[in-house]
Amino acid sequence: MSLNGKLALVTGSTSGIGLGIARALAAAGADVMLNGFGEQARIAAIRAEIAATHGVEVGYNGADISKPEQIAAMVAECATSMRSPDIWVNNAGIQFTANVEDFPDERWDQIIAVNLSGVFFGMKATIPAMKAKGWGRIINIASAHGLVASAQKVAYVAAKHGVIGMTKVAAIELANQGVTVNAICPGWVLTPLVEKQLQERAARDASSVAKETLAFVTEKQPMAQFTTPEQIGGLAVFLCSDAASTITGAPLSIDGGWVAQ
Ligand code: NAD
Repeated sequence: MSLNGKLALVTGSTSGIGLGIARALAAAGADVMLNGFGEQARIAAIRAEIAATHGVEVGYNGADISKPEQIAAMVAECATSMRSPDIWVNNAGIQFTANVEDFPDERWDQIIAVNLSGVFFGMKATIPAMKAKGWGRIINIASAHGLVASAQKVAYVAAKHGVIGMTKVAAIELANQGVTVNAICPGWVLTPLVEKQLQERAARDASSVAKETLAFVTEKQPMAQFTTPEQIGGLAVFLCSDAASTITGAPLSIDGGWVAQ
């Protein structure tokens, strides 16, 4: 399939899953607007590498997704420097773990601002132009934690359940406007977000990251392997295809069987 001529904006695409999605969409022919934090030289190298490999245009905007005014400014800048996005992937996300009674208020606010409100403000910013074009794809990166819970992840689980709820609302509102809205629900993907949890767990149990990794995956997933950012990217490309044009409002699991149990 070809996404030639389409522009995809992927939030949080300087690392992990977002970068995998941006690469996959570029490989399918889409121009890409990257977003996320990181060292400027590294981001410039990623832009150059994707552009050279796939012959597409690659922009970058460093908007902080927890700040609605920065999302609005990114949309305006994108429309000027490139054009309005045809594909919008709400992927930026953060994590913090603690029991409910110990969970710091500022961590709750931060996770809700990025993982939940960031998705709302992202959809709000992109929907008008997609409606005007009569075509659009919104893909929200939720999680297995949007469907089931784990201990010590109160803000993350609340945010990801909320992302699936707002995906359904937007899908219904846009059902006959050529715009689909879906949520991808990954299980474990070995990215910096998960590496940090593995390091904390190894330190807590006086163990090693290598030892903890298999236990970490298999205590949640029947399938004892990580999903890769490339595989999540493949699902995102499929959701942009004509074959997926009547899939909307769906939470799509890609999780090694996690929520089948
Ligand atoms: P990651 O830490 O590798 O990447 C997160 C990206 O988001 C980075 O580019 C970072 O710069 C960006 N980011 C963070 N805060 C931001 C902000 N305020 N504004 C703009 N960008 C910001 O993490 P990842 O594992 O690739 O996670 C990506 C998404 O996938 C998240 O929404 C996460 O919840 C979800 N997810 C991850 C897993 C997993 O196992 N890794 C599983 C399910 C869902």
